[in-house]
Amino acid sequence: MPPSEFTLIYRYFSALGRGAAVDLSVGDDCAILRLAPGERLAASVDTVVEGVHFPADSFPEDIGYRAVAVAASDLAAVGARPLGMTLALTLPEADEFWLHSFSQGVAAAVSEYELPLVGGDTTRGPLAVTVQVLGALPADRALLRDGAQSGDAVYVSGTLGDAAAALAFLNGTWQPPAAAGEYLLQRFHRPRARIALGRELLERGATAAIDISDGLLADAGHIARASGVKICIEPDRLPLSPALRTGVTQAGVSREQVLRWALAGGDDYELCFCLPPTQPAPADCTCIGRVEDGSGLDWGNDAGIDIDAGYQHF
Ligand code: ADP
Ligand code: MG
Repeated sequence: MPPSEFTLIYRYFSALGRGAAVDLSVGDDCAILRLAPGERLAASVDTVVEGVHFPADSFPEDIGYRAVAVAASDLAAVGARPLGMTLALTLPEADEFWLHSFSQGVAAAVSEYELPLVGGDTTRGPLAVTVQVLGALPADRALLRDGAQSGDAVYVSGTLGDAAAALAFLNGTWQPPAAAGEYLLQRFHRPRARIALGRELLERGATAAIDISDGLLADAGHIARASGVKICIEPDRLPLSPALRTGVTQAGVSREQVLRWALAGGDDYELCFCLPPTQPAPADCTCIGRVEDGSGLDWGNDAGIDIDAGYQHF
């Protein structure tokens, strides 16, 4: 007889629920989390669907890690301290090999982000993973999209375009050298939520921030719109990984295609943020432009590169 829903939950998920803010974890009708006096609760939810957000043949361990990282990235973007998460899992069948591997990916993210799994729901259906994240913010501060000021410097963390290049590799559009391909696939399957950076930016008085899920142009565009400013991006300054650069130098990919991945690719889960010009650059971050009076984005599109703005489901 296949194991019951409760046996599965107990076996794979109930050990991941301990954390500093957790009063009650998996097993009752609700979890109970503790906020420090004066703190506010930050909440966000993200669903990933097989065949839409990740390829159908992804390793279950990567699916688990990535689902949590993608959701936790929203906590990073507002500068919240992780408190805990819940996981709604829809599975076509109770495949224990799959569940074991998936839960190991979830466990890696739980420990990396100090984000205990405090509850969830388990149902049968086409594979989909929903992660709700909960975090704590001080009473008087959050990194939002609407605070960018003319004169601010615009930054991104890490490198851009890697995940889009990985998807193009998976689709057979190009063939990177083996080591570069490995690296890029890792960047797609194991994005890093920039939790520590988000908290640092909150301390430093960053004026606006967003995580790059839909592509730099789409997401920086959200900051420009919400803040009522123009954001000017210099494409030559975009940080590219050595693996992506090999596309241009060794794999016959045009510079234009690489720029398209970096500007519009999405799935990198880096942070784009604005800092007053007096602030030094945080570690592992690159200044890519500045905020000006006006509206919209200016990325030198007179260069004639044709770019679709970010991914839209409908
Ligand atoms: P209820 O019927 O009250 O919603 P469930 O039977 O759905 O309760 O779940 C029982 C317990 O197991 C709850 O504490 C719930 O939060 C937890 N749970 C269910 N599915 C998961 C999951 N995929 N991951 C973590 N906890 C889960
Ligand atoms: Mg339930």
